[in-house]
Amino acid sequence: TKELWEKTLLFLAPQIKRSNFLTWFQDTAILRVEEKRLTIGVPNPFAKDWLSQKHHAEILLAIQSLLPKIEELEYAVLSGLSRGADNRAVDIKALVADPVKRTRKLPNKQEMRVTSEGVISKFLNHRYKLDNFIIGSSNRLAHAACSAVAGKPGGAYNPLFVYGGVGLGKTHLLQATGNAILKRNSENIVVYVTAERFVNEIVEAIRTRTTAPFKAKYRKVDCLIIDDIQFFANKETTQEEFFHTFNELYDANKQIIISSDRPPRDLAGISDRLLSRFAMGMIVDVQAPDYEMRLAILHEKCREHGTLIPAEVLDFIAFNVHYSVRELEGVLLQAIAQAELEKCTPTVRIVAGILKKLTNQDFLKEIDQGGHRSLIKSSSEVMEVVSDYYKITKSELLGESRRKEIMLPRQVCMYLVRQELGMSYESIGAEFGNRSHTTVIHACDMIIKRLRTNPKMVRDIHAMKKEMGL
Ligand code: ADP
Ligand code: MG
Repeated sequence: TKELWEKTLLFLAPQIKRSNFLTWFQDTAILRVEEKRLTIGVPNPFAKDWLSQKHHAEILLAIQSLLPKIEELEYAVLSGLSRGADNRAVDIKALVADPVKRTRKLPNKQEMRVTSEGVISKFLNHRYKLDNFIIGSSNRLAHAACSAVAGKPGGAYNPLFVYGGVGLGKTHLLQATGNAILKRNSENIVVYVTAERFVNEIVEAIRTRTTAPFKAKYRKVDCLIIDDIQFFANKETTQEEFFHTFNELYDANKQIIISSDRPPRDLAGISDRLLSRFAMGMIVDVQAPDYEMRLAILHEKCREHGTLIPAEVLDFIAFNVHYSVRELEGVLLQAIAQAELEKCTPTVRIVAGILKKLTNQDFLKEIDQGGHRSLIKSSSEVMEVVSDYYKITKSELLGESRRKEIMLPRQVCMYLVRQELGMSYESIGAEFGNRSHTTVIHACDMIIKRLRTNPKMVRDIHAMKKEMGL
C-alpha cells in the first residue's frame, strides 16, 4: 500500500498548490483497503478536514486510476503517523524531491488494456455509472434500456440506439453501460469509441495500409459502443466499413450501442442500409430534465464532489439553467470554485453573476421583473396562490391589517400581479381594497429590494410562480 500511495501522491502533486500539498499530505498513508473502500490515515484532524473537504474528488480519481474498484474513501486520524513511527506513512518532502520517482508515470485512464487475444478493451471513465445517473421522466426509458443491456448484452435490445440533445447524458449512459458490462464480466472486451475517432482510425488505417488489423480489431469485441454517430454523415468509406463490422457483431450476438444527437430518421448523409440496421433493436431518447430532476442532479453532483451548498442556491440554479445537464453541472462547479476563491459558501448572488457572464442575461433583473410568459389569467388566481402559500385568508390579504405576516404576503401578491399580469398600479390598487396606486408602487419596490438581498424571498417567489405554472 505504501507504493500505491506514493504513486497516488505523485499523480496528485501537480494538481494541488505546492505549499498545501506539502503541508497536508505530509505523513499520510493508506491504512486499509477493503473491497470498495479505502482508508487514508492522516496525522491530525486538520489534515483530515482539509483532505476530505478540499481534495476528496482528486484523491478518489487518482486512486481509481490505479485501483478501479475503489468507490469510497475514508479518512482516519492516527497520531503515530506524525512522528514518522509508522512505516506506512509517506515522507512527502522526500518523495517530491526524488527525481527518479517523480518521473514515474501513472497509467493513463484512457489507456487501452490488452486482453488475452491481443485485442483492446478501453478503460472507460469510472465516474460514469448507471447508479449515479439521475432518473426522471425525461430519461427513464433510456436508463432502463441501458440497464437491460448491461444485464444481458446482445439480447433483445441490440443494437441500442440512444439519441438526444447535447449535454443530456448520452455519453454518461453509454459509458456506464460499458462499465456495468465489464463489471459483470471482466473478460469481456468492451470498446467505447467516438464516431470521430473511429473515422480517424479508418483514415489512418487506409493511409498506412493496415485496414486488415483494423477490421480484425473491431470484429473481436463483445460490446462496441459508438458515440455521436451523426459524425459518420457523408463519410462513405467509414459507413461501408462500419456496416460490415455491425453485421458481423450482430450476427454473433455481440452488443452494439450507438448514440446520436438526433433520431435515425433525421440522420441525413447516412446510408439507408445502416439506418435500417439501427432500427432493428431499441431506439430511446433522452430529453431535457424538468425542474425537480435538475434539482436532484445538483444534489447528486454536490454529493459526488463532497460539497455542501445552500438549498436556495441549488434551487436558483435548477430554476434558471434549463437546457442541458452539462450546463447545470458547469454552473455548479463554477459556483463552488468561485466561492472557494472568495472563501465563502456560494450564494444566489454569485450564481447570478456566473449566469450573467455565461448568457449575457441579467438573472437578478429577471427575478425582479418576473417572467414573460404568463399562464395565469386573473389577479384572483394570484391571490389564491399567495394566500395559500402564506396560509392566510383572502380577506386578510385584502384587508387592513398592518401585521408583518399579512403585509408581506399582500405586497408579494401586488408585486406578482403587476409582474405577471402587467396590470396598471391603479387597477391593482382598486382590486386590493381600493388602495392608492402609490401604495402599490411602494409594495412592488419593497419586494424588488428584498429579492436583491434575501434568498428566502427569491425562493418563495419562485415557488409561488411555479404554483402558478410559470
Ligand atoms: P451528452 O453525451 O448527451 O452530450 P454527457 O453524457 O456528456 O452528455 O453529460 C454531460 C454531463 O452531465 C456529464 O457530466 C454527465 O455525468 C452529466 N449528466 C447528464 N445526465 C445526467 C443524469 N441524468 N444524472 C447525472 N448526471 C448526468
Ligand atoms: Mg456525448
